[in-house]
Amino acid sequence: MLGLMQDWPLLCHRIIEHAAQVHGNQEVVTRSVEGPIVRTTYAQIHRRALKVSQMLDRAGIKLGDRVATIAWNTARHLECWYGIMGIGAICHTVNPRLFPDQIVWIVNHAQDRVMITDLTFIPILEKIADKMPSVERYIVLTDAEHMPQTTLKNAVAYEEWLKEADGDFAWKSFDENTAAAMCYTSGTTGDPKGVLYSHRSNVLHALMANNGDSLGTRASDTMLPVVPLFHANSWGIAFSAPSMGTKLVMPGAKLDGASVYELLSTEKVTHTAGVPTVWLMLLQYMAKEKLTLPDLRMVVCGGSAMPRSMIKAFVDMGCEARHAWGMTEMSPIGTLAALKPPFDKLEGDERLDRLSTQGYPPFGVQMKITDDAGTDVPWDGKTFGRLKVSGPAVAKAYYRVDTEILDDQGFFDTGDVATVDADAYMRITDRSKDVIKSGGEWISSIDLENLAVGHPKVAEAAVIGVYHPKWDERPLLICQLKPDVTCTRDEILQYMDGKIAKWWMPDDIVFVEAIPHTATGKILKTALRDQFKTYSLPNAAA
Ligand code: AMP
Repeated sequence: MLGLMQDWPLLCHRIIEHAAQVHGNQEVVTRSVEGPIVRTTYAQIHRRALKVSQMLDRAGIKLGDRVATIAWNTARHLECWYGIMGIGAICHTVNPRLFPDQIVWIVNHAQDRVMITDLTFIPILEKIADKMPSVERYIVLTDAEHMPQTTLKNAVAYEEWLKEADGDFAWKSFDENTAAAMCYTSGTTGDPKGVLYSHRSNVLHALMANNGDSLGTRASDTMLPVVPLFHANSWGIAFSAPSMGTKLVMPGAKLDGASVYELLSTEKVTHTAGVPTVWLMLLQYMAKEKLTLPDLRMVVCGGSAMPRSMIKAFVDMGCEARHAWGMTEMSPIGTLAALKPPFDKLEGDERLDRLSTQGYPPFGVQMKITDDAGTDVPWDGKTFGRLKVSGPAVAKAYYRVDTEILDDQGFFDTGDVATVDADAYMRITDRSKDVIKSGGEWISSIDLENLAVGHPKVAEAAVIGVYHPKWDERPLLICQLKPDVTCTRDEILQYMDGKIAKWWMPDDIVFVEAIPHTATGKILKTALRDQFKTYSLPNAAA
């Protein structure tokens, strides 16, 4: 027997409709790409999103067609998200930090028909446009006054384009399992892979993000997503914030410490979210200028491990540091390190210990850890295993790839290695390909990196395994120092000594000008492994 409840498909555009109706005057503030701060509201975003839908529909964009965006976090970009999804087209966010060849590959794989771009990316796109024949037209997120001359096909300024619509248009209706958006994983190995979110998965994910132990913003809060809309589904914030009526502050193209600080401060931001490198820049700027952020209550940090020293810096500011783990394939929320009883009563180092785990999953994410044969290993906080997940917002396949990605029980292998303790707190040890295998035992590069960046002179650290004749692999610590400091290998080794098992201690330390990053801000270990592949450790003869 079926329940007698309404058939109310979970469609993304219902979220902006709700925001417009219930929180219509709530502000969305943008640092525009042209420069000035621009203020708009959910009601206006809703109205303009309908115009985007109307214009795309008029151009013959149909259910299932791909419309790409390559753009910063701005209100205009958000309007486009809802406008694209509102007619059942697929919003394909392209990461502009990818190499131009990767952008070409991704756009051709997705067969995007329209490309919506910021002024910033016109020069890159002009160089590669002839290699992306599926793109019929380019829409530039600006007005006539700022629109440059460009060779991009059928290019039009967004504001001029929107003027042709009267907004007298109704969203399309379709099944909630219809694809809404796509995002390619940056793929450090093999080709990038397209993750295809559905309307249903995005709406359910927004509800997951809204719980108090997750991102948990309310109508009275202000959220600044430093995490770009083009990175892992914007961590769901493009849906969760409007669904709650939370004020949004969109940082545009400027993500340096000073610019992010300025917006956090002037807009009295209560919640913000981004990767550790962003917080590193913010904290360095604040320390240098001796600044505070009295309104900031929560910093969500994920994408890479949040170092304990960073967590402490935010906690010392009176702000909650919410360490999160997830991935593009998970929409992306996987776990968050909120403090559940009895850990909420912890203080000092013990509290920091708990906060620096990757946390536990919200309802809607199931996880397990297994050995290589696929057998579950215990949740004892010690046994490492492959981390596997399932849930309504977790991928079951990649776009146009014919490979099975789920195990017999329907779990997706994340490629991460982790421990889980009896209270369900998970701790990432490594990407399975980054874990260092020393004499048959595993050493966590993440733990070593976190410890090293706790040293006051170290800005960023990366650990890779390098060849050792006796142990197969031993850890090499690669450090980028803070500006204008000098430091020796021994200073850092002394600092680390006693804080980890002796056999985990790096065999050597090298200092570099800059640690390379991927397009999503993660340490680019493949480049470091390449650079140091012939590195000879001082004790390698042992
Ligand atoms: P992406 O799909 O680009 O967001 O990358 C997902 C991967 O980033 C995960 O599988 C992890 O390897 C890594 N990652 C994300 N969050 C964390 C975290 N808090 N700690 C350690 N690794 C993380």
